[in-house]
Amino acid sequence: MADGGSLGGILAAARALLVALALGLALPGAVQAAPQATPPAQGVTCIKCKSTGRQPCPEHTKEECAREDGVLFCSVIADCATCGGTGWLLCPFCENADAKQALENKRARVQQMRPLLAEYDERMGRPLRKSATEHFTLVWEIESLKVDKRTVGAHELLHMYSEHLERVFTDYCEVLKVGEREFAQRAKVFVWWLPNEQMKASLLFCGQGSQRGVKLMGSPVAYSMCGNRQFYRNEEMLHRNLVHCVSHLLLSHQSPSEWIGNKKGGWAEEGLAHWFEDRYWGVCDTYCYEEQDVNVDFKGGKYRVAMRKLIAEDKSPPLMGLLEQNTDQLTLPQHCAAFSFVDFLIHLDGAKFNAVCRKLRAKVSSRDALQAIYKASPLELESQWKAWVLETYPKQ
Ligand SMILES: [Zn+2]
Ligand SMILES: [Zn+2]
Ligand SMILES: [Zn+2]
Ligand SMILES: [Zn+2]
Repeated sequence: MADGGSLGGILAAARALLVALALGLALPGAVQAAPQATPPAQGVTCIKCKSTGRQPCPEHTKEECAREDGVLFCSVIADCATCGGTGWLLCPFCENADAKQALENKRARVQQMRPLLAEYDERMGRPLRKSATEHFTLVWEIESLKVDKRTVGAHELLHMYSEHLERVFTDYCEVLKVGEREFAQRAKVFVWWLPNEQMKASLLFCGQGSQRGVKLMGSPVAYSMCGNRQFYRNEEMLHRNLVHCVSHLLLSHQSPSEWIGNKKGGWAEEGLAHWFEDRYWGVCDTYCYEEQDVNVDFKGGKYRVAMRKLIAEDKSPPLMGLLEQNTDQLTLPQHCAAFSFVDFLIHLDGAKFNAVCRKLRAKVSSRDALQAIYKASPLELESQWKAWVLETYPKQ
């Protein structure tokens, strides 16, 4: 009994030690440790905050706080008196100058953004859910959506879509080899659930009313759309539409700002937007200039397979004709060819394609722009492009 009792006592003591270690407590009887209030010296770890110098604000969930790092401003927590709209508090158990500075900067940024974004609330006549990141302001008025079989609430969606938008921006700059200074202003994106709110907002913020979506191109740029099931069968299609349309905003806003879609630059504008759809999903099914018919489809959106077939059967739309179209004049096979021709030019060199787009925005014709950048006529480029497609695109 005595042995058993003493073993139990040892185990209990060991458990207490583990609990004490896990809680970061000073051990009774241990060599007098420094009082807990004293901050650990530089390089010493703080168990309380894992040495990050900060802790999540108790007014929100930990997950919510973590997401706040992805934005400059979030209206959902902007008015929190505890964290000043940052999602974080300084760790009371240690001192971390970098964390302190970062938190102060974020607080100041939240206050700076607040009046800029309040404009949307005033014009719509009620408080809106919105965020700001480096390159976008996003108004998000959808309560919940099913994303990969999980129902996601409004606050998380606001952050998720802020990230989606920034990803397009980063990819756009990488692919076209563009510096971010070529974009003078944040692009504004509005996503509504109610068609009448979309109608009102598109008139207010994009200068034209439509129940489905309106883009304001050039400078400034904005896109207001209705994300309701009437127009998008699922969240993926909504996401794809935003990726597609945001590429239009960026292309038109990049210096020198100009919309090329009504200056026979439809091939470059739509080609690039479909290229981004293909990059993320391998499917191109966004036809953003179709006002009414939402079920437009070309070969199930499998553009690579479709294009290879068109060329193999000698039914590909001629490049010269394609280079003369405005965006709203493009036929479905021309959308597919525009994607593929842009795909070919990006494959050659994103920087050169960017140089072509820059010329188009400066009102140079497609023919002259291609000749200047590639030292080749459209006919020569066309045969190189078709050979490349036959060589590299899948048959099915
Ligand atoms: Zn700490
Ligand atoms: Zn938030
Ligand atoms: Zn808070
Ligand atoms: Zn489009």
